[in-house]
Amino acid sequence: MRVNLDEAIIKLQNGEVVAIPTETVYGLAADASNDDALRQIYAIKQRPADNPLIVHIADINQVNNWATGFTPLAQKLAQAFWPGPLTLVLLAKPHVSNILRGNHPTVALRVPNHALTLQLLKQSGLALAAPSANKFTQLSPTTAAHVTASLGDVVAVLDGGACEVGIESTIVAVTNNQNGESWQLLRLGMLPEANIHAVSGVPATKTKQVIKAPGQHAQHYSPRTPIQLFTSRAELISHANRHPNVRAVALLLGAGAVPNCTYFVLNNNATDVAYKLYDTLHKMDALNAEQLLIEAPPNATEWLAILDRLTRATHR
Ligand code: AMP
Ligand code: MG
Repeated sequence: MRVNLDEAIIKLQNGEVVAIPTETVYGLAADASNDDALRQIYAIKQRPADNPLIVHIADINQVNNWATGFTPLAQKLAQAFWPGPLTLVLLAKPHVSNILRGNHPTVALRVPNHALTLQLLKQSGLALAAPSANKFTQLSPTTAAHVTASLGDVVAVLDGGACEVGIESTIVAVTNNQNGESWQLLRLGMLPEANIHAVSGVPATKTKQVIKAPGQHAQHYSPRTPIQLFTSRAELISHANRHPNVRAVALLLGAGAVPNCTYFVLNNNATDVAYKLYDTLHKMDALNAEQLLIEAPPNATEWLAILDRLTRATHR
């Protein structure tokens, strides 16, 4: 069911859930300080309780309502990249709901870069917990229609068009101890690690995982159809040729064709592919094929987040 901005605000203030647009993917939102509202998110998504939720806030000034750990390094990153596809994991204030943080000592925060949702956050006066608006482990939604297809028409959706980035945020944990401040990459997104390094002035800590990133399941972001990733186009085509009786749908990154096979082609450009990836996988999945054959992206840093999502999609 579609709702407008005013209806979305009323529902959220009443403790109901509403799917909202962001620049990454659509989120299933609820008032982050209302435990009953938060429980509905987990129930609708069938999401495990130990998989905490990202809190979406209107601006940087709200961080201190949720975190004690808004350290100078975290502030620098927020100033540089918000609104935008960066989630900061910081030490939580004691009052922050355990349901929200899955019993972890940390809270995840982000200012999304989407005009309609920023207006929603400002006008409602709420902070909104919002994981992706799909059933647990399914493909993420990047349009209002994807949300309805996954969660049903009973879920209210604020339609803000197709998500501009198209894949989930980069998640960074910032910690402060006797050795000073450091940061760790918990999940790759389209905001590259190099940009975070450049702003923070120090490289990511790779050795010991100080902060736990629960919910990074190997099987995630999966279509219903089994999916196979090919490191070269030649291998993909040869696989299709060797299995003429398997109904397959292929995805190529860059111009070309797969003989005797239904196929989709995306530009060989990481930004374009991120924007269209989930929508294309939704379309491929809808063809009820027996197998999805995907050409792996080039081995280059700007493709790492896309490779991460595709790799998780192949696990089942
Ligand atoms: P998403 O499923 O896209 O909403 O992203 C949620 C992910 O953010 C979780 O699976 C965690 O990896 C991370 N996250 C969210 N909240 C926290 C938290 N309080 N502490 C650590 N990581 C978190
Ligand atoms: Mg998700």
